[in-house]
Amino acid sequence: MIVKIEKLAGFCFGVVSAINLVEKELKESDQLYCLGDIVHNNKEVERLSSIGLKIIDLKAMETLKNTKVMIRAHGEPPSTYELAKKNNIEIIDATCPIVLLLQKNIKSGQKEMEEIEGQVVIFGKKGHAEVIGLVGQTKNKAIVISSANDLDLIDYSKPIHIFSQTTMSKEGYKSICDEIENRYKLFNPNLQQKIIITDSICKKVSSRSKQLIDFADSVDVVLFVSGKNSSNGIYLYSLCKEHKEKTYLISAKEDINKDWFIGCESVGISGATSTPMWLMEEIAEYVSK
Ligand code: SF4
Repeated sequence: MIVKIEKLAGFCFGVVSAINLVEKELKESDQLYCLGDIVHNNKEVERLSSIGLKIIDLKAMETLKNTKVMIRAHGEPPSTYELAKKNNIEIIDATCPIVLLLQKNIKSGQKEMEEIEGQVVIFGKKGHAEVIGLVGQTKNKAIVISSANDLDLIDYSKPIHIFSQTTMSKEGYKSICDEIENRYKLFNPNLQQKIIITDSICKKVSSRSKQLIDFADSVDVVLFVSGKNSSNGIYLYSLCKEHKEKTYLISAKEDINKDWFIGCESVGISGATSTPMWLMEEIAEYVSK
């Protein structure tokens, strides 16, 4: 049986630099706090915890003083930096540069919208760490849209600036933006108000679509390795599943069911931007055996 790993699979550069930062810090000290899971992958979190990374939540951070806390690639709202300053906590900032740029653009988008009584809309998952960080740039005024069910939250008689969380599906974003534009045109037949759509989906995720579909088409069974809370993982898995019915979402080799491979001659392994290559290699070796 042929077992192969997709060429573009593995950590994105945002995750690579966050993990490099953790490893660098833990060479100099035997413990480092990280606000939230460093990546949405339990196996990698376990590995980093074994060398001294301690995952904490915001409540725990409130009780810390005079120490270092890492901010992961998803970023944080301004209130977290204020808390760090108040408690004399040194921030080790691993916010991905793409997320940082989006935070900056949302902040200036909010300023512009306030001047013309408009609203910032963010297409993203409510409660997701990145979205909390993005909404924080607007002093929590942005409207979060997770699906078409939330579209009534927008006032279509006023200007609108739409952004997306970096790891949402580009098809989903397009369809939400089309619907917002349709409703907006009903309220503004002469386009007397302003609507701006910013493409803020990370190309690291969206550019994988074609290669992933081709990869899924080239094998009999796909094992998609991802944490179930990884936003890009769920999107890329669904894409694979649409094209290859025999696609299975797993987080470790223990999830594998041997029946999946009956009559199968080739297995493809891929994963989210937060899935470590060592884990996919371990799974490939297990399947080969
Ligand atoms: S998926 Fe994109 S935005 Fe998110 S951490 Fe990776 S490179 Fe950065």
